[in-house]
Amino acid sequence: MNIRDQVKSIVKKYGTRNPFEILEQKNAILVYAPLEGVRGFYQYFQRNHIIYIDENLPKSEKTFVCAHELGHLFLHKKANALYMDSHTLFNTNKFENEANTFAAELLIPDELVYDHPGMTSKQIARLAGYSEKIMTFKTIEGGNTYGNEI
Ligand SMILES: [Zn+2]
Repeated sequence: MNIRDQVKSIVKKYGTRNPFEILEQKNAILVYAPLEGVRGFYQYFQRNHIIYIDENLPKSEKTFVCAHELGHLFLHKKANALYMDSHTLFNTNKFENEANTFAAELLIPDELVYDHPGMTSKQIARLAGYSEKIMTFKTIEGGNTYGNEI
């Protein structure tokens, strides 16, 4: 199952797109702390899911980081690694790309794109309250990334 379909089934199962609500239902531990040089990280430790988020981030960034860490939780738990997420979140490895894809699919519902056919990806991102970079990880039906087509 691809990440897009996984997110769809997660949204259906938990009945929300709010990453904080999904965390709660997963009984994950959420810790806000003043982090140095990282926005957040995910740790699977003694059967506990633990997500740390930099307490100094703006609200929309906290939501994005939460969704991104949730991606690690659902997609990479078995890798048993510690995922430190620096401020250069958007140009890293496969795991980070997958977590960003998870976050984009969770936070940008298809309807938001379909309901605003005249909008650029940048405008859609702004409407949703996130950095426009989120749209490079968003896929629309047909399997293409959002890109510049719309
Ligand atoms: Zn990450």
